Amino acid sequence: MSKAKPCETVRVVVRCRPFSTREEGAKCENILDIDDKLGQITIRNPRATSDEPLKVFTFNSVYGWRSKQNDIYDDAVRPLVESVLQGFNGTIFAYGQTGTGKTYTMQGVSNDPERRGVIPNSFQHIFTLISRTQNQKYLVRSSYLEIYQEEIRDLLCKDNNKKLELKESPDFGIYVKDLSSVVTKNAAEIGHVMNIGNQSRSVGFTNMNERSSRSHAIFVVTVECSEMGPDGEDHIRVGKLNMVDLAGSERQSKTGAKGKRLKEAAKINLSLSALGNVISALVDGKSTHVPYRDSKLTRLLQDSLGGNARTVMIATVGPSHKNFGETLATLRYASRTK
Ligand code: ADP
Ligand code: MG
Repeated sequence: MSKAKPCETVRVVVRCRPFSTREEGAKCENILDIDDKLGQITIRNPRATSDEPLKVFTFNSVYGWRSKQNDIYDDAVRPLVESVLQGFNGTIFAYGQTGTGKTYTMQGVSNDPERRGVIPNSFQHIFTLISRTQNQKYLVRSSYLEIYQEEIRDLLCKDNNKKLELKESPDFGIYVKDLSSVVTKNAAEIGHVMNIGNQSRSVGFTNMNERSSRSHAIFVVTVECSEMGPDGEDHIRVGKLNMVDLAGSERQSKTGAKGKRLKEAAKINLSLSALGNVISALVDGKSTHVPYRDSKLTRLLQDSLGGNARTVMIATVGPSHKNFGETLATLRYASRTK
């Protein structure tokens, strides 16, 4: 099951979570059929007339409700993290409706090895790979930030209400001015950094869930490797790994958003649609213009999307008929980026 696949530039996978106890109690019907051998998901409209055709989508991989955190890691993430240690940039996104398992997939349950998600698994993996090397020196740094309403906040800084600016320099490319960066020496240290950032995400906001479902959280690990070359000089290569728990993809208008809410919703949808446009331009390969500048998210990740960088999009869905509309929208979005 954990057979590593070759590393494409953009890989799009879909994961379906199990029914929740609430959904089971409410006798929700399953509308998804998942064929992991073919990489296909079939979705049934619960209100369809009998002659309406089922919709079938194909992805690089699909994971049903029995899938384990390790299946996702080994199959979709492991090769990308290996490439980061070789000096390439990579980005992993979790995209989907709130409540479908983005945070579970990215973070999971840190203190349970079985249920640990992509982010803590990558920490473990990075430091294991480093411990096996002999002639290289590594420096691992991490940053954790949030984009909310097109504003950037540092999740590792005490004054986490400060809005940070995106800057561009000829030497560093695009960077976030004044963003904290913490040097970590092992998986436990970097895990601690993640926990601090997670706490900061919830401090000072009356409704943490609401905020976290409307913001993008980006954990960035920079791996710098120096190695003495045959010329006797030190050579440095740097790879960057971005792990992004995106804002919920649900359409806000349905929930009766008004005024400030509606504006906020427009901004969330803007960055998600900008991201979709960037990825589909990259996948298309023929587009001469990749619209990175359309949102903070895509500008920030510009040097990690396209070029030599690798991207994995994990779209998360739920099985219930009650979410038919949102699930179909997620599958369409994901299939447009593939
Ligand atoms: P999101 O971040 O997309 O809003 P969460 O990750 O918070 O969604 O998941 C919602 C709920 O479903 C949580 O209680 C989570 O533990 C559970 N869940 C999500 N995916 C899975 C899964 N693959 N297996 C078991 N439980 C899951
Ligand atoms: Mg979440």
